Amino acid sequence: MFSGKAVKRALALFLFSAFGALQAQQIDLLIQNGHVFDPKNKLDTILDVAIANGKIYQVANHIAVKNAKKTVDATGMYVCPGLIDIHTHVFVGSTPGVFADGIYSLSPDDFTFRAGITTVVDAGTSGWRNFQKFKKQVIDQSKTRVLAFLNIAGWGMTGDSLQQDVSTMDVRKAIGMVEKHPDVIVGMKIGHFEKKTWEPFERALQVVSDTDRPLFVECHLPQYSLEDQLDRMRPGDIITHSFENISERRPVVDTTGNVLPMVFEARKKGILFDVGHGGAGFWFNQAIPALEQGFWPNTFGTDLHRFSMNAGMKDMLNVMSKYLNMGMPLKEVLLRGSWNPAKAIQREDLGSLSIGADADIVLLSVKEGKFGYVDAAGNRINGNRKLEAELTLRAGKVVWDLNGLTATLFQR
Ligand SMILES: [Zn+2]
Repeated sequence: MFSGKAVKRALALFLFSAFGALQAQQIDLLIQNGHVFDPKNKLDTILDVAIANGKIYQVANHIAVKNAKKTVDATGMYVCPGLIDIHTHVFVGSTPGVFADGIYSLSPDDFTFRAGITTVVDAGTSGWRNFQKFKKQVIDQSKTRVLAFLNIAGWGMTGDSLQQDVSTMDVRKAIGMVEKHPDVIVGMKIGHFEKKTWEPFERALQVVSDTDRPLFVECHLPQYSLEDQLDRMRPGDIITHSFENISERRPVVDTTGNVLPMVFEARKKGILFDVGHGGAGFWFNQAIPALEQGFWPNTFGTDLHRFSMNAGMKDMLNVMSKYLNMGMPLKEVLLRGSWNPAKAIQREDLGSLSIGADADIVLLSVKEGKFGYVDAAGNRINGNRKLEAELTLRAGKVVWDLNGLTATLFQR
């Protein structure tokens, strides 16, 4: 016979071990001893990160190994939220000569994970007329989380003449599309418009005002002055190609090497400045004096497309490494890789290692050696550090593992 007390004790012991067993099952992957850098949660120290069911399960000092199905030793690496690239063109298709459903765009998974990116935002490659095709063809087929700024031009980036056609820029239809896909469409884009009328800009602003989202201004607006663009933009709106130096837009640094006062004023007003490197959007003769004068970009959008991927831009980690070698401190670089872009697109559920968030994680190493970094003008700076993605996880799944950290060591 057992006394009531003994039964209770046995039951407690059973529950305790059942809970233990449950815990053991719960941790799918345990990342140990990495330097966790998570600005949202103010974490900047050596910690373990446990992942269960695709989510961040625990971030703590020394999480018990016996509870984990698999472990990864991240000693000497930074454990960061997966990177977010807010300027890409990924509406890939087979149409020659265009970005929308065309060959100028790129397939996201081919370029993201190897650069530590888990979320991209497509910068207006689609508009309200072809967004659903984009969704079906690319967004729903990709492991990368693909979000979008919807182009105010109804057909998005489907060739020049269609992009100039104001009659496709339908505010009501665009709002309808945002409301139909509120989790995917994070804002509107205006760009590639060559006439004088401000109608497209005003219409795009109307959509974002009504749907409470940011406007993404991709320049290529040769008739609009920089001053007028910044004047019309609201706090939280984003301008990209911040450090370009081409005839289509006045550069942010003047001919004497000083950042224009109106640019500082725009920042004070709350306008965000994205790098938007691309093929022509990043010049050292702009970016370096700007950095020295305290005018730093908020985010490192790459403007990934067929013409930037093999030129000076290469990938987002290369753009981040440029800034590291130009003198931006590593923590400031990392902040601009994940948490800043998450805030810019008003998606604060992303860009952190918060408990319960999707386990989008990158393990980064800082390589030392001799490296060269090239801008859009073909100029090079020499550097001695380079960021490399060792391991990328998207919703807890290994999607990139450079040196086989999670693989089993082969034995004969
Ligand atoms: Zn672009």
